[in-house]
Parts: sequence; C-alpha cells; structure tokens
Amino acid sequence: MFKAFLIKYAEIGLKGNNRYIFENALKDRIKEALDSLGEYYVSKEQGRIFIECPESYDYDETVSALTKVFGICSICPVAVIESSEWDILSKEVGDYVEMMYTDRNITFKVEAKRADKNYQYTSPEICIEMGSYLLNRFPEMKVDVHNPSVRFTVEIRTKCYVYSINIPGLGGMPVGSGGKAMLLLSGGIDSPVAGYMISKRGVSLAATYFHAPPYTSDRAKQKVVDLAAKISKYTGKIKLFVINFTDIQLYIYDQCPHEELTIIMRRYMMKIAEKLAEQENCLGLITGESIGQVASQTMYSLAATNEVCTMPVYRPLIAYDKKDIVEIAEKIDTFETSILPFEDCCTIFVAKHPVTRPSIKIIKKSEKKLDEKIDEMIETAINTVEVISIG
Ligand code: ATP
Ligand code: MG
Repeated sequence: MFKAFLIKYAEIGLKGNNRYIFENALKDRIKEALDSLGEYYVSKEQGRIFIECPESYDYDETVSALTKVFGICSICPVAVIESSEWDILSKEVGDYVEMMYTDRNITFKVEAKRADKNYQYTSPEICIEMGSYLLNRFPEMKVDVHNPSVRFTVEIRTKCYVYSINIPGLGGMPVGSGGKAMLLLSGGIDSPVAGYMISKRGVSLAATYFHAPPYTSDRAKQKVVDLAAKISKYTGKIKLFVINFTDIQLYIYDQCPHEELTIIMRRYMMKIAEKLAEQENCLGLITGESIGQVASQTMYSLAATNEVCTMPVYRPLIAYDKKDIVEIAEKIDTFETSILPFEDCCTIFVAKHPVTRPSIKIIKKSEKKLDEKIDEMIETAINTVEVISIG
C-alpha cells in the first residue's frame, strides 16, 4: 500500500547555508542507509525529503533503516495516488482510510497541500470537500479540527499523496553536517554511548582503542571492533585506530608510583589520541567519562587528565548516572557486547588504592621519570598503529 515515504525534519535554527548543508547531508545519509535494500529514489522537496520505493521492497526493513538516521524527525509512509482527478482522488483517499482504520470510531481532520496552484480547489477547499466525502462514506467518523485523533494529509502535486502515520525518527542532526571527532573507544559500556551521542549532533567519528597484548586478548580487541560496528549503523563509517599500548603501560608501571598509574596512563592515552585526531582533521576528542564513576573520574582526576590536551574534550555522559547510560546502551544494542567479560587494559594495571585527588604538580613530577624514553615510545606506538575500517 505504501509506495513512498515522506521524511520530516526539524527546521529550527536552519537558515541560509546551514539549511542547505543539513538537507544535503540528510539526503546523503538516507541514501546510504537504504543503499543495500534496493533502488530507492530520494529527493529534496520544500522542507522535507521524499523517498520513492522500488516496486518490491520490505516495509519493516526500510522503516528500521530510516529510524537509525540522525536528523529525521518523523517518517510518514505515504500512499501514492496516480491521478489528481477529484473522483479518483477522493475515492482512493477513502480506500486508504478504509484499509488503515478498521475501527472507524475516530475523530479526524483533513489537511491539504497543493503544489499545483491551478488545481480546481484551493487547499482549504480540498479539506472541506475531502472531509465531507469521508463523512458521507464513513458516517461513524467525526470531524474535530482542534484535537483530532487522526490527521489525514492530502498532497496534490504531479501525483497525489495521502498519509496519516508519523513514525518518530531519532532527531538530532545528520552525520556530516558537523565536523569530525576522535572517540576514545574502550570495550566498556560508556564510550560507545558517548560516541553515539556526539554523532547524533551531526559529527562523524574516528576512534582510538588502546590495546595491551598479551595483557588484553584478541577477543578484547574484537569486542571493540564489534562495538564500533554496532554504533557505525548510526554514525556511518568509522576509521578505528588500534594503538599497541603495552610498552608504554609497562614503562609507567616500572617508573611511577602505582597509585598514580591509572591517571598517568589516561594522560598518555589522551595525548596519543589527540595526535591521531590532529592527523585525521578531527576537531575534538570524545570520552565516556562521568563525574565520580570511578577513581579516575573524580573532578580532580578529570582535571589532571584534561590538562594534557589542547583540543576540546567532549564528555557527553559527564552528568549521567550509570543506569541512564545503560538504558541508551540497550537502545542502541551495544550493552550485550559491552558486558562480555574480556579484560580491559586499564583493569590489569589498576592499583588497590588509586589516588582520587591527584595533584597535577605531583603527577607531573612522577612523569619526569619517563623523560628518557616516553617520546620515542609514543612515536613508535603511533607509527605502528593498526587501522581498521568499520562500516
Ligand atoms: P567505558 O565503559 O567507556 O570503558 P569506564 O567506565 O570503564 O568507561 P574508564 O576505564 O575510566 O571508564 O575510561 C574512561 C574513558 O576513557 C572511557 O569511556 C573511554 O573513552 C576512555 N578509555 C578507557 N580505556 C580505554 C581504552 N583501552 N582505549 C580507548 N579508550 C579508553
Ligand atoms: Mg573502560
């Protein structure tokens, strides 16, 4: 019955050139999302996007793909009526109502749009005429222009369209309408959610994972690859950088006080991720940190970690409780993968009593002990990075 979809998006704040960038990005993302499902024709029309479906297509699969595209406010499945001739049009709109609403104890309103200004009726006239046709044909239905339970929208263009269903989209901005950012992606629950949230604002992602073989296994790495693949269904392609962090971790372990280990390690992670981010033309870093979640995420620890970067660090989960993060992880289908019990490079080296109030001065003093080799080690880690294309 539905041969097309009308895609609505929020227009607030979209003016001039911004609007053009937003619309083109959204159109491209929709095309990508539908690419593997068949030959859809996607076009941009007066403040919305119109998708014409191939002759045979899978409705559920199509809707499911569209509900993963950021920037879509609602998805309206549309019945296409080939003729604007009034008798045909009104009958087919009636057939649509009959098929869609088996229980017709509903209140309704007809809304009309016409691109063809020479059409025999004006938009208000279409509403009145179509309303009375429907009342005649379905006497159990009632008109309510203020608060109807169903709105039938009839559009008259070269062809005609009728729709009454609004499937909510994800909202946000289409990926590619913002810049790019580097996500520090671990195998945990938080960082995939953080990446998803920033990407929802239109930002495309690259990602860095710090791997410490043999302390972290290939399965732990595979888990990160799987998580990147899961979020790439929303964010689009992700270039994943896998840094071998073992030597740096062992060196820190050898030279620095163990209660400062996590903080110092995190500082080097940020430094390395920032260098990769610069190479990749990213405009910021993203982490899954949340105030107070663990010792390395107190306000003191965050200040110490942050101090090594000049790039903005985006922490979308900063004020989230774990249960709220888990809720999003479940929604985007990363949770089950995140809780697989493979060791994380940080848990291997965690001290029994990590500092919770690190002083940047003291941390910097401890890091002095790394002066001899650390720059070279960072360079080696970056030069030997493994790059995996996801999505
Ligand atoms: P997550 O659930 O995202 O692993 P977490 O609660 O385990 O977070 P930490 O281990 O303190 O928290 O890490 C904080 C943030 O640092 C993570 O959200 C992630 O962005 C980054 N991070 C931690 N470990 C790694 C790693 N091995 N590779 C890349 N990024 C990491
Ligand atoms: Mg972690």
